[in-house]
Amino acid sequence: MPLLSWLSESTDERPDAIRVDDRSVSWVELRRTAAAVADDLRGVRRVAVTATSGLETVVAVVGGLLAGAAVVPVPPDAGPRERDHILRDSGAEVLLGPAGAEPTDPSGPPVVPVDLDRRSDTHHPEPAPEATALILYTSGTTGAPKGVVLSRRAVAACLDGLADAWSWTPDDRLVHGLPLFHVHGLVLGVLGPLRLGSRLHHVGRPRPERYASAAGTLYFGVPTIWSRIAADPAVARALRPARLLVSGSAALPETVFGGLAALTGHRVVERYGMTETLITVSARADGPRRAGTVGLPLPGVQTRVVDERGDAVPTDGVAMGELQVRGATLFDGYLHRPDADAASRTPDGWFRTGDVATIGPDGWHRIVGRAATDLIKSGGYRIGAGEVEDALLAHPGVREAAVVGIPHPDLGQQVTAFVVGDGVRETELIEFVARHLSVHKRPRQVRLVDDLPRNAMGKVQKNLLTDV
Ligand code: ATP
Ligand code: MG
Repeated sequence: MPLLSWLSESTDERPDAIRVDDRSVSWVELRRTAAAVADDLRGVRRVAVTATSGLETVVAVVGGLLAGAAVVPVPPDAGPRERDHILRDSGAEVLLGPAGAEPTDPSGPPVVPVDLDRRSDTHHPEPAPEATALILYTSGTTGAPKGVVLSRRAVAACLDGLADAWSWTPDDRLVHGLPLFHVHGLVLGVLGPLRLGSRLHHVGRPRPERYASAAGTLYFGVPTIWSRIAADPAVARALRPARLLVSGSAALPETVFGGLAALTGHRVVERYGMTETLITVSARADGPRRAGTVGLPLPGVQTRVVDERGDAVPTDGVAMGELQVRGATLFDGYLHRPDADAASRTPDGWFRTGDVATIGPDGWHRIVGRAATDLIKSGGYRIGAGEVEDALLAHPGVREAAVVGIPHPDLGQQVTAFVVGDGVRETELIEFVARHLSVHKRPRQVRLVDDLPRNAMGKVQKNLLTDV
């Protein structure tokens, strides 16, 4: 089956199948426009795409995939350094994207604009499933972004698993406003509809009021947008007629889950994944959803949680360890990073996520956080930053919270909270947390800040907090 099976086979000419920002195309029109791009890419093995939130990005990505090239999305607002790094590192031969976005590196690939007015009826043969579909760069939350090589087979397996878990069908109309250069916005948010046949409305920018007026059945978002929607009852109530709300890319605070359930009538489906593994664990559309948990492994994925020796920890919902995964959705390797490649796999073939998790007796997974920044070792205790963040967010004066461990001579690490709040005091917050959690989990220090450093996916860059 072709990777973009629905797009490849549809004869539907209704004009609004795919709407990106303010432009719409039918299935047939999108296929013919992308085929014209693919005609020009014959013989090209790697094509970079300036991934704006516009229709030309969808056309360029589909054109690259039809031509059998590996597609390398480049963030549109990447500075010259980051853009040149991605172009050089990936070995892209052409950069499709808005004219004017010339690489600053004169030895970089030529920039070719995407023409939305050309059409072609060429049928390009389907590449082998092992061929690379995408080279995606990680979000750069913990360091420099790494190039992740993803096969067409892995992308297809991920989307088919999500179709099953989320009952995602051609009857759906997907709405989101995610950037189109990561797994969430591009693989799930664009290739998903093109394989599974749901219509798509990309709202351009992830603004709550645009979600409210888009009338979708299925909505994707990162926790920052869900938190803004939960804080705006009129917007949240507009999502009542939807079928399913999905959150991912970072932990969804329990207060946001609760707020959305009360206002929209929907318990958000939370899912977990990485650029390297695509989506591996999720709650199901036809099953329960619980605040603070990411559900069960998707079809074709196996998971385990191991201690420092590599032994599986008890599945009692309490014992923590590193989450490791294997299965059909895994990447082929990091680009030009044999060191990172070797470090990322166990001798028996599991991928080390670097995330700490628990698994309950019923198989439900709970992500504690990243081993490097979210698992705080303080005074002999292991404390998950997320639990303390959730406790802080339950205080009405706290708008955002990020908890880290900073080096401490006695304790090893000291629980330190960075809080964006309205008229709250440090001592009040420390006492508040101590009333709700075991006393050793309370922050020893609360720093009130104007905002938290976040990347394009809204993820808090905790390494920048620990540096201050
Ligand atoms: P980098 O690897 O460059 O530091 P990154 O890890 O943020 O960046 P991604 O691959 O986009 O890059 O993100 C994957 C990570 O996001 C996971 O390892 C996990 O830490 C986090 N994550 C994704 N979904 C969830 C979720 N539902 N709950 C908690 N964390 C999540
Ligand atoms: Mg990562």
